[in-house]
Amino acid sequence: CGIIGVTVSPQCQQRNAVPLLLEGLKRLEYRGYDSAGVALIMCSNSSCDVKVYKAKGKVDEVIERFSLREKYSLTCLGHTRWATHGPPSDTNAHPHVDCRGYIAVVHNGIIKNYAMLKQVLSEHGHRFRSETDTEVVAHLLEEFLREGLGMLEAMRKLLEVLEGSFALAVLYSGTPNRVYFARRESPLYAAVGDCISAVSSDIPSLLHISRLVVPIEDDEYGYVEPGHLSLYDRRGEPVDWRRRAKIVTW
Ligand code: GLU
Repeated sequence: CGIIGVTVSPQCQQRNAVPLLLEGLKRLEYRGYDSAGVALIMCSNSSCDVKVYKAKGKVDEVIERFSLREKYSLTCLGHTRWATHGPPSDTNAHPHVDCRGYIAVVHNGIIKNYAMLKQVLSEHGHRFRSETDTEVVAHLLEEFLREGLGMLEAMRKLLEVLEGSFALAVLYSGTPNRVYFARRESPLYAAVGDCISAVSSDIPSLLHISRLVVPIEDDEYGYVEPGHLSLYDRRGEPVDWRRRAKIVTW
């Protein structure tokens, strides 16, 4: 029911995105939900991994259960779920990951053609863990990368393949300082600060991050990096988002 992604630069004062993410998740609670979860990119000297913590229940319960206030990450996602496909459960909670666990996806909306996509992906060897419509997105992205596309191009291809409504935020361990996103019909906003950026389902959950807010329009996609937004339309043409940006004063 609500999605959020936050990325911060290690050079900046705020060196941990997790407290900002959790504050944003708390601010999304009013929208109603049955489950919550986060995905954190955790890097060592040699590699980066995506770690997922999620469960049925309240945001505070999930924070306590996994000691999320003690975690450290520069780039992360959060989700509050209002189940539409698959009952509320730990497994059906978002984020959902691909087979290898390199890609994590949070989604607000309904993927109408998920059953057909699930069948095709299963025939290509993908193993599904949840009963959600959302999980097809993680496997589709994995499939597109396997075909040789880059992550950004894979996000554009999602717009061609997916039917229904979606606000999506995506982490990929291969590009650890980026949060990818795409939207159709479900609300999505980006916020850009000096050393930080975020995307979220609503504006109030972004204002502790930056007051420079950009509404994302239907069939747009792109990514945020700390202090940076790259936005594209459905044809892959760059969008000049600065004209659309608002300084939110409330
Ligand atoms: N359709 C997805 C699910 O049931 C997302 C629901 C939502 O928007 O929270 O998991």
